[in-house]
Amino acid sequence: MNKERFFQRSLMAWYKPSDRPLPWKSIQNPYHIWLSEIILQQTRVEQGMNYYLRFVEAYPCIQDLAAAPDDEVMKRWEGLGYYSRARNLLAAARYVANELNGVFPESYEGILAMKGVGSYTAAAIASFAFNLPHAVLDGNVFRVLARFFGISTPQDSTTGKKQFSQLADSLLDQEVPGLYNQAIMDFGATVCLPRNPKCQQCPMIDQCVAFNEKRIAELPVKSKKIVKTTRFFHYLILNHQEQVYVQKREGKDIWQDLYQFPLLETASLEMEWPDLHQRIQENWMGLKLSTLRAGTQVFQQILTHQVVNVRFWELELSAIESNLPENWIQIRREELGLYAFPRVIDRYLKDDTLYLNLL
Ligand code: SF4
Repeated sequence: MNKERFFQRSLMAWYKPSDRPLPWKSIQNPYHIWLSEIILQQTRVEQGMNYYLRFVEAYPCIQDLAAAPDDEVMKRWEGLGYYSRARNLLAAARYVANELNGVFPESYEGILAMKGVGSYTAAAIASFAFNLPHAVLDGNVFRVLARFFGISTPQDSTTGKKQFSQLADSLLDQEVPGLYNQAIMDFGATVCLPRNPKCQQCPMIDQCVAFNEKRIAELPVKSKKIVKTTRFFHYLILNHQEQVYVQKREGKDIWQDLYQFPLLETASLEMEWPDLHQRIQENWMGLKLSTLRAGTQVFQQILTHQVVNVRFWELELSAIESNLPENWIQIRREELGLYAFPRVIDRYLKDDTLYLNLL
């Protein structure tokens, strides 16, 4: 038996769908499968599960999702991160509802045309929902294939992508592509783990190149290192007549369409109140302000390409002598829960040692 056949046979013999039951497994509903796949992009199963269940309950069919207000969907997505997924989810739902008469596309190409769906997600949906022969290729699959076959071509290079893609296609079980895709994804998620893979439980250990040549730690290979930029945010919580101000983040930047407090971005967080006050006056003249408490400790949120360091300032706004920016919305504190905020703001708001009973 050649190596490819051994791999496919061993994987399918190992796979027992009932070992890892998940609500989106063993179903054929393409809308539910699509929802689960979008939620699970960049998100662990344990974290995504509740979101999936809540979305299915709130929007049982794609028309329900298409008809939902943007802010409501963003609020439901809150805490999952990578918010462009939620925006694309809505755009794709509306595309299906309005352009395709509510009928979910049934071909790989049709699925790929939906916003936010790349080749991996299209292959997953096409194979799970319609049993179409398209092999999935995600981080789990790259890792398993690189290790078992001993491939050191960088997975993110043009040559690597082609090599892995051809290999993944040749390994696909054409009879049951959906089951095979589930098998390789589950295998990567539970046995061939990124760190400390469970090789002693692996049915392919005898023929695994990485194991036999002690190259597990060096495979898979990636050529590009992600360079992160560091940013510094001062969030101003302007208390005025028992209300505070929030604004929607707009433009092409992180956290698009989420809400935040008025923001001053600076080159560092080392700033005392007089300096910060001066910067506020330069930006928004005419605000009469005093501090209710010194800036908080630094809160941090780490994103794929950025590290955002944040300090929160509770301020009392006693008078406004000029127009406020148009997108500042004045709300009561108890209404803060209605808005979707980035995780770092949520953490601040939930830390009741910091601000509750302040006023
Ligand atoms: S032997 Fe270890 S490294 Fe090789 S495929 Fe199995 S789990 Fe992965």
